[in-house]
Amino acid sequence: MQQILNYIGGALKPAISGAWMDNYDPSRGVVYSLIADSDGRDVDLAVEAAKAAFPGWSNKSVEARAEILIKIADLIDSRLEEFALAESVDNGKPLSLAKRMDIPRGSANFRHFAHATTQFHSETYDMGSVGFNYVLRRPIGVVGCISPWNLPLYLFTWKIAPALAAGNTVVAKPSEVTPMTAYLLAQCCIEAGLPPGVLNIVNGAGSKAGAAIVGHPSIHAISFTGGTSTGKAISSIAAPMFKKLSLELGGKNPVVVFDDCDYEETLATVTRSTFTNQGQICLCGSRIYLQRGIYDRFVKDFVERVKSLKVGDPLDGDTDVGAIVSKDQYEKDLFYIRLAQEEGGTILCGGAPAMPPNERCQNGWYIQPTVLSNLGPQCRTNQEEIFGPVVTVWPFDKEEEAIALANGTTYGLAATLYTADLKRAHRVAASLDFGIVWVNSWLVRDLRTPFGGMKASGVGREGGMEALHFFTEAKNIFIKL
Ligand code: NDP
Repeated sequence: MQQILNYIGGALKPAISGAWMDNYDPSRGVVYSLIADSDGRDVDLAVEAAKAAFPGWSNKSVEARAEILIKIADLIDSRLEEFALAESVDNGKPLSLAKRMDIPRGSANFRHFAHATTQFHSETYDMGSVGFNYVLRRPIGVVGCISPWNLPLYLFTWKIAPALAAGNTVVAKPSEVTPMTAYLLAQCCIEAGLPPGVLNIVNGAGSKAGAAIVGHPSIHAISFTGGTSTGKAISSIAAPMFKKLSLELGGKNPVVVFDDCDYEETLATVTRSTFTNQGQICLCGSRIYLQRGIYDRFVKDFVERVKSLKVGDPLDGDTDVGAIVSKDQYEKDLFYIRLAQEEGGTILCGGAPAMPPNERCQNGWYIQPTVLSNLGPQCRTNQEEIFGPVVTVWPFDKEEEAIALANGTTYGLAATLYTADLKRAHRVAASLDFGIVWVNSWLVRDLRTPFGGMKASGVGREGGMEALHFFTEAKNIFIKL
């Protein structure tokens, strides 16, 4: 069976323990590869390699660093088919989605930050005859990057690329649920000539390998994407050690539809924004608020569209909804569907496991896209993150009511709103307590913009110069004249 090795000091190697963890193909529900089961000793090795590599990497010119990162991006692109297949098999997402979105975004992250670092600059503050201040922004040293399973390569590289571009060396851990494309990335890094130790990838469990990264005294910053409770646990260790922390956490994203929206376009976008990647994108909408005037019609048409989504073998070209990433997540989704019913919810469609699409997939984890109504805003179904193909619908009358409903959870990651009224769009967008608001659209990304959540959805922002600021320390120097 294929073994997913660590990438430490430029070499691919098993964990020091010699132990392995099972890696599942969710479309078939079977173990198909083994993951190096790393612990603190592997993290120590990785940190030593990263420390040794730091002077050489941080002192390279920005152009030299950028050139290597662009080579990595080119290598990912040249292996698009292989990466996309690996991502689909590891995660259960439709192969077409991996090919269209995940892998191109992985290489785009490297390319974006390679270019961004050549444009990175710092400020001066002129005090006239007194003197002036200038700001040096230098890499931090060894940094830790920890990412989740839903967009494996996409989010892993979203952290690693700016960290490396800014001149840091990195110890990174992909999710144990989806480690395969990080392994392929390690191969590309070797081929691109990334100096040994600049990037180190340690596989294994969050509670062991992940916790060892967070608690390591020589790792000075942690960039983490994952669940809010994991983020809390990480903060409790890293904050007292005064590490820099960037936390991109969970969400419970509202979709607010006013009755003057472009009806057909809104219907199509709302369907896409709720069930893409089996609803397992941190930016997917999960609470749909519809203005009373269109509520009945929209719910009817939306349910029809959702019923027409094809739950299928991720490898089939016409599959809309693939497999749920793991047995744990599958059971969590089903738990919430049961809970919703106990809370008085009405199932408008879905609400059960889906039939496996074919013989090959007969033991895979599939759930019918589910739409629920009749659930008040305060019930658990509408307050807790499910992170699966399960959404609720609820009517509203007035704009203020919609804003209050949308803001009425502890989360604040992303909101979408649909209206033809420009003034209302600006007014409502400004009133929503979310890090991102899409108006009449969804998941349109510009990698230069600040990305992140408010409230329990996180601390800090990623993207563009925000990421380069996070991965550097600013030092102000005053010169007396
Ligand atoms: P988890 O929080 O379970 O895990 C995320 C990563 O942290 C994994 O690599 C995990 O390892 C690791 N980890 C787990 N425990 C620890 C620990 N104690 N110390 C250090 N690392 C640890 O999240 P999921 O992987 O389940 O991902 C889903 C979550 O991610 C959802 O809540 C979703 O909203 C959120 N998310 C947020 C995004 C954002 O931009 N705000 C984007 C995408 C997802 P292992 O896999 O081995 O457990």
